[in-house]
Amino acid sequence: MMADSREKALVEELYALIRYVYHKKLADEIIQAFEDAFASRTTPEERITICEQWIDFYRAHRYRKAMRRRRPTSQERLTPCSACGYPVSHRHHLWDVATHGENRVTVQLCANCHELHHLMYNTLARDSERSRKLVLHILASPRLQPQAVQQILGWCRAIMQYEVENGWLETHKVSDRWLEEKLHWADYLRRVESRV
Ligand SMILES: [Zn+2]
Ligand SMILES: [Zn+2]
Repeated sequence: MMADSREKALVEELYALIRYVYHKKLADEIIQAFEDAFASRTTPEERITICEQWIDFYRAHRYRKAMRRRRPTSQERLTPCSACGYPVSHRHHLWDVATHGENRVTVQLCANCHELHHLMYNTLARDSERSRKLVLHILASPRLQPQAVQQILGWCRAIMQYEVENGWLETHKVSDRWLEEKLHWADYLRRVESRV
C-alpha cells in the first residue's frame, strides 16, 4: 500500500475509534486536535506513527467500553426475582460480561437466588470446592423454595450446555453423574419430597 492510502486508512480507523469511545461533542474536539497536529507535521511517516500509537490506545478503550456492564434501570430493580418472586432483583448475566461484554442474555434474580446461581455455576462448571460447600449448606435449609432451586439449576445447566457446545467446557460437567457427585442432587430431591 502506498504511504498515502495507508495513512488515509489509519486516520479513518483512528477517527472511527474516537467516535465509538466518546460522545459526539468530545469526539469532535479530539478529532480536531488530531487534525491540527497532523497539519503541523511534515512527513507522512510521522503521521502514520502517531496514528498507530493512538489506535492501540483507543482500541484498549473500546475493549474496556464493550466490557463495561451497564447499571440496571429502576424498572429492572423493581422486577420480581424470576426464581422465587422476591419483589426486587439484580440483573444477572447468563452470558458473563468478561467473555461476552455487556449483553441482553440476562435474568432478574434477587440477591439470594443470584448468589446461589453463581455458587452453583462455580461448583459445576469451575469445580470450586469452596462454592460447593456453600451450596450444600444452602440446600440443607428448609427455608428454600424447591421450585426456585430447580429453576436456578436449570439456568446453570442451560448455560453450561451452551458452553459445552462451543467447546468451552468439558462435556462431563453437564452430566447427571457430575451433578450427583458434586451436589448429591437425588438426596436433595428426596429430602424435599419427604417434607411435603
Ligand atoms: Zn430469588
Ligand atoms: Zn450474576
